[in-house]
Amino acid sequence: MESPDTLSPPTSNSQSPEFTELKEVDSGSWIAQHLERSGSVSVKFRDRFPYGVNWPTTLFIGLMHVGAIAAIFFFSWQGLAVCLAMHFVTACLGITLGYHRLLTHGSFSCSKPMKYFFSLCGMMAVEGSPLYWVSTHRKHHAHSDKEDDPHSPTHGFWWAHILWLQPRQPNDVFMAQMKRWAPDLMKDPVQRFFHSYFGFVPLFQAIGLFALGYYLVGTGGVYYGLSMLLWGMCVRVVACYHSTWFVNSATHVWGYRNYTTTDYSRNNWWVALLSYGEGWHNNHHAHQRLARHGHRWWELDVTYAVIWTLKKTGLAWQVQDTLPKRG
Ligand SMILES: [Zn+2]
Ligand SMILES: [Zn+2]
Repeated sequence: MESPDTLSPPTSNSQSPEFTELKEVDSGSWIAQHLERSGSVSVKFRDRFPYGVNWPTTLFIGLMHVGAIAAIFFFSWQGLAVCLAMHFVTACLGITLGYHRLLTHGSFSCSKPMKYFFSLCGMMAVEGSPLYWVSTHRKHHAHSDKEDDPHSPTHGFWWAHILWLQPRQPNDVFMAQMKRWAPDLMKDPVQRFFHSYFGFVPLFQAIGLFALGYYLVGTGGVYYGLSMLLWGMCVRVVACYHSTWFVNSATHVWGYRNYTTTDYSRNNWWVALLSYGEGWHNNHHAHQRLARHGHRWWELDVTYAVIWTLKKTGLAWQVQDTLPKRG
């Protein structure tokens, strides 16, 4: 089997930096300096849409936000419970454990059925197929906070948070990115199938959640159907979106650094709480293959707790969890 080391494309900062003194470092001040140097932000912003706007993505993100606001008028305890349970399954098991630590970085190994199970959980978060997500994230590591980084706050905080998702990419550009940055997933026919039919995932979820509420929950009917749909999908997807997006935006702006890296990555406690441990982003940029993102005893990492449990029950192996030596 191919070693996971060969799966990750070369990165500009993949060396193991020393554990440096814990301190706040120039939080945010570099952004003003960068924007001053880069001249007219609006011209640069327009240049970032060479093929126009990706309307399907933009409208879907907008629709989810509208649905999340409408959910206030369709509250039910059952809807909230489904929202929280599905948030853990899709955001923690799907995105952080599956897409990020397993598929992007090969931080541990597991059986193929489990790999596909975690892929499906991630797809339910509607952040794109594993092929798209993994290729984008590996590109981020290779060009962190440089011109070719897909989502760096050096191009503006809101660019890194949400706007980078809006430009349309022609299919050949899209395919070239996936071939370049995720050749291992490209070779897998199941992953190619997931990518081709990804669009059905939100549709099936919406129909399934509405039907669940309409027929089985509470007194049933349209109120409970909409409650399940709006809380189980819209609120949950929006919460997951912003916690993932804060990893791209906030943890490259605010927080402290345990390690000296060539990017602006930071450790941010509130992002870590929202994203099941992904907020310890400076630790992660310094040691990308580690399954464990919290390196100090108080850096809570829920995703690693799940991986540790999988390891202890024999469901995960080759777990990369040896912390670097403290300097
Ligand atoms: Zn980053
Ligand atoms: Zn990563």
